[in-house]
Amino acid sequence: MQDLLEKIIQENRKYTEKGNLATYIPELTKANKNDLAICVIDIENNVYKAGDYEKKFTIQSVSKPITLALALIDNGKENVFAKVGMEPSGDPFNSIMKLETVKPSIPYNPMINAGAIVITSMIKGKDNDEKLERMLNFFRSLSCNPTLNINEDVYNSEKRTGDRNRAIAYLLKSEGIIDGDVEEILDLYFKQCSIEVTVEDLARMGANLATYGFDMLHRQRIIPEDIARTVKTFMVTCGMYDASGEFAINVGIPSKSGVGGGIMSSVPKKMGIGVFGPALDKKGNSIAGIRVLKDISKQLSLSIF
Ligand code: GLN
Repeated sequence: MQDLLEKIIQENRKYTEKGNLATYIPELTKANKNDLAICVIDIENNVYKAGDYEKKFTIQSVSKPITLALALIDNGKENVFAKVGMEPSGDPFNSIMKLETVKPSIPYNPMINAGAIVITSMIKGKDNDEKLERMLNFFRSLSCNPTLNINEDVYNSEKRTGDRNRAIAYLLKSEGIIDGDVEEILDLYFKQCSIEVTVEDLARMGANLATYGFDMLHRQRIIPEDIARTVKTFMVTCGMYDASGEFAINVGIPSKSGVGGGIMSSVPKKMGIGVFGPALDKKGNSIAGIRVLKDISKQLSLSIF
C-alpha cells in the first residue's frame, strides 16, 4: 500500500499545474499550488501516508457532511429534510438561482452552500459559542484529533468577502427557511469552513463513516448507523457538486470536496481516504486529488458500483 500511494502521488503531481487556487477567499491563495498528499486509514487502523501529508489546510465544504450528521442527531430526519432537499442540483456549489426559480425555495441538498447554511442554522446550543463548541467537539471526536481548531486568518478572510453566502442566507431568511440572526448563522458557517485539518484527519473521518459511524480506534459509536448511511449517500450523489455524476463513474467512492483542496472519501466497510491538492478545477474540486482517487480506486477496485 505504501509503495502504491508513493507512486500515485508521484505520477499525479504534474496535474497540480493545470488547476488554480480558490481566489474568492483571498487567504486561500497563500497555499502552495503544487502540494499533493494522501492518507489512507483502513478499518483495522493501519495508517498510510504519502506526499505533503503534514500540510494543514482548511476543511471548507468537506465539513458539510459532518455538520449534516450533527444536525440529524440534533433534530431528526423529518425536521432536517423539511428544510433541505435530497436531490442533486446540477448547479455550482455557490449557486443562488434555484432558490428563486423553484418553489418551495428549500435548497436542493445539504452539500451545496445554500443547504449547508440551513444545516448550520439547525445546530443546537444556547448561543453561538456553545454551538461552535459542540460542532468542534463533534469534528474532534470523528477525526480522533482533540487539537482540531479554526484557522482565524481564513475565517476572517471569508467573513470579509463572503457576500455571495450572505445573499443566499438573507434570501433563505426572507423565505422563512432559516430563523434567527443571519449574521450569527453565517459566522458559525464561516468558522465551520475554517476548521484546519490534515489528510490524516480527513482519512480518519472517512474511516469512521466507512464503519457506519463506529470509531474503531476508541471502539465507540459516534454517529447512528442510519445517519452515517444517509451522509455517505449524499456524498455519492452531491459530494463533488455538479461533477458528482462523472466522479461516480470514474472513481465510484462516496467523497466530499472543499475549495481548500481537500477531499474526504469513505469506502464502505474498507477504509477512509484523505486527499489534499489545493489547485482546483473549474467546478471547485482538487484537480490532482481527483486523479489520485481515480488511480487508487482502479488499482484497489474500490468502486462501490
Ligand atoms: N467556505 C466555502 C464557501 O462557502 C466553502 C465552499 C467549498 O468548499 N466549495 O464558499
